[in-house]
Amino acid sequence: MDKYNVLKTYFGYDTFREGQELLIDSIRSGRDVLGIMPTGAGKSICYQVPALLFPGITLVVSPLISLMKDQVGALNQAGVHAAYINSSLSENQIRTALKLAAAGRYKIIYVAPERLETREFLEFAKGAEISMVTVDEAHCISQWGQDFRPSYLKIVRFIRELPVRPVVSAFTATATAVVKEDIQCVLGLRDPQVLLTGFDRKNLYFAVEKPKKKDGFLVDYIGNHSGESGIIYCATRKNVEKVHGLLKQQGLPVTRYHAGLTPEERKVNQEDFIYDRLPLMVATNAFGMGIDKSNVRYVIHYNMPQSMENYYQEAGRAGRDGELSECILLYSPQDVMVNRFLIENKEPNPEYGPEELLTLREQDEKRLNAMNYYCMTTGCLREYILRYFGEKVTAACGNCSNCRKEFVTLDMTQEAKKILFCVGECRGRYGINVIAGILCGHNTAKLREYGAQERESYGSLKELTESRVKQMIQHMVLEEILFVTRDKYALLKAGPKAREVAEDRLPVSLRLPKEQPREKENKTVKTAAKNRKSDILNSRGLNLFDKLRELRLAIAREEGVPPYLVFSDKTLVDLCVKLPFSREEMLTVNGVGEHKYKKYGVRFQEAISDYMGGKKEKLYFGEQGFVGDGKALFS
Ligand code: ADP
Ligand code: ZN
Repeated sequence: MDKYNVLKTYFGYDTFREGQELLIDSIRSGRDVLGIMPTGAGKSICYQVPALLFPGITLVVSPLISLMKDQVGALNQAGVHAAYINSSLSENQIRTALKLAAAGRYKIIYVAPERLETREFLEFAKGAEISMVTVDEAHCISQWGQDFRPSYLKIVRFIRELPVRPVVSAFTATATAVVKEDIQCVLGLRDPQVLLTGFDRKNLYFAVEKPKKKDGFLVDYIGNHSGESGIIYCATRKNVEKVHGLLKQQGLPVTRYHAGLTPEERKVNQEDFIYDRLPLMVATNAFGMGIDKSNVRYVIHYNMPQSMENYYQEAGRAGRDGELSECILLYSPQDVMVNRFLIENKEPNPEYGPEELLTLREQDEKRLNAMNYYCMTTGCLREYILRYFGEKVTAACGNCSNCRKEFVTLDMTQEAKKILFCVGECRGRYGINVIAGILCGHNTAKLREYGAQERESYGSLKELTESRVKQMIQHMVLEEILFVTRDKYALLKAGPKAREVAEDRLPVSLRLPKEQPREKENKTVKTAAKNRKSDILNSRGLNLFDKLRELRLAIAREEGVPPYLVFSDKTLVDLCVKLPFSREEMLTVNGVGEHKYKKYGVRFQEAISDYMGGKKEKLYFGEQGFVGDGKALFS
């Protein structure tokens, strides 16, 4: 067998993705590798394919128990003998597994790093033929990484103990330069082939929305995407409970996850989500590590997260199957305050001294500001993300909410000067609400009490709406013309660039979305994900698609596995396009390999043939033929 056969037979794919082949070939030639690829890029295939081609066993070191279970489940499903050894097993189970391993039962064994130095495991490893050691989540070995795990240092010692040094392959989604160096040095990789693939996830649509009512937006959005799986992230447990209650009240199939639930509840809820019994998940950022649910169609952030790192990781859980999916952040200025509060009240790590704590705090602040700026920018969102992660970008993407919006540029130099004058006149004693109220000439009890009417700036911007004035003030804060104090009062003061503006040396302009009728705005949201693969099916095709989904769910229940492990949505669509009636035709379908064919092929074939009454007919829009050349659709 060669690598293409392995890919097709066990995983059902026809072609490798970017970078996969290079790493596989290097590993096969005996060279160490370091693969840095974003979540969802397909790192597993890079070591699983060579593992199946090597004569001996591949050990995969992974820190996450849930991930191991998932991966091993998927491998066995695909006909690969695999096992995991970690603390979720009893001593007895571990002994049995090691006995089977020693007898050559498994090609791939997942193991927790703590396990490596135990006597039984070392004994087994020394006596077995170990072809490769793979280190998953390799950034855990770096003290500079976000989740350093001292137990990862055991890997190096373990490899040294082996009679023959196996190939070592390491994988991570963290790309900073220090972490990369650390992995190479600390793991002792020998002249590794390093591959860093782009961080762009082309199938993800990014949007920042600033709805007046987040709840209304959410309910509408989910209504427009019924039947799809989505995750809604909230900043706090309280918000999770609130949003979960709201959606439940609407009769939606929703569950929840946060650290305040019992481990039992969390497990049940997570499984309800993974098995698509309840395809909507409302959660804090405690949810998602190690979850590989490939058919998540959208990730909505109900609150702004604390950093771009967090955001991209959480949003990246959408669309792991490569299908078009949406990542939407619902912004409100209040989220910034909440996050600032959370940062300031973070439990200090006792290992750090006061100076380190201060540095860490400053880093947190910086990250938060960068996140805030993502929500404010009127430029391309994807470009912003990629630049943040150190990639060069040459053009706007055309597929984010900013690229799709039309903007007009408004010169606001005169308004900026009036705002500055007002802030000066009030001697920096008020926050944005009072300042905007004075400028707009509002007549409220509070403003009267502050003597607002006596001020020269009272009503000096009364031709503008209050929200426009606030928007201008926020823009001036971003541009450092104004400055907001970092306490709970959030007072406005003149910033470093105030003088330049006041002296007419710095013009100020604001990019504003072109005013659009409300209806049209809604439509942008609804249609953003058009061109999803299933959209190519006509109504009869969609009907068949639903039938096949039911069949998939039935099989998944019989076998106790998540539906996407049976076939992905993409495979179901390809089935509806190609309408295979025979084994040969079946094997041309994306995601159908020899093993899956043996297991499920006939049942799907029969369901299709029944539905079609044994006759082929085109069930999709477009030009492709049914069998064989439908490939173009998915390349
Ligand atoms: P990562 O570990 O990089 O986050 P995974 O290894 O879990 O990503 O892969 C993400 C998804 O992409 C999985 O559903 C996997 O089956 C799919 N995938 C990987 N390689 C290919 C390929 N060559 N063709 C099609 N799908 C692939
Ligand atoms: Zn864009």
